[in-house]
Amino acid sequence: MGPQDQPEYINAVMAVETGLPPLELLHALQHIELAHGRVRARRWGERTLDLDILLYGDRQINTTELSVPHKGLAERAFVLYPLSEIAPDLYIPGYGKLSELLMHCPYVGIRRLNDDESIS
Ligand code: ATP
Ligand code: CA
Ligand code: CA
Repeated sequence: MGPQDQPEYINAVMAVETGLPPLELLHALQHIELAHGRVRARRWGERTLDLDILLYGDRQINTTELSVPHKGLAERAFVLYPLSEIAPDLYIPGYGKLSELLMHCPYVGIRRLNDDESIS
């Protein structure tokens, strides 16, 4: 994704329960990014931390500040494959079954980290 001369990066998907409405959740994530000293020089380039909301239950949201499901989710192997590890039977509003999306998204350019491994 983005400039090809950037270092490898780690992607992970997590499921959370929250009492925060979507926009407040986004702002909370942005605070965490800043607290980790997020710096980024170029679009889709390397950054210290990037926290995106992929889904929010079965909600569909399209505002200038927030799009849910996350735009680009359907084409990104580094999103779909980790997502399928925690929610293989997921139905993605506006897109369809996760299992169908995976069939159109080859496992290319990514690899699974072992539990005790970090990228070098
Ligand atoms: P991409 O969104 O394509 O993965 P990015 O993560 O590098 O790119 P950022 O610069 O981190 O993009 O975010 C740009 C803006 O995207 C944010 O300020 C936020 O308002 C908006 N945004 C829209 N939808 C979402 C979402 N689902 N999760 C996080 N940010 C979102
Ligand atoms: Ca992102
Ligand atoms: Ca982001």
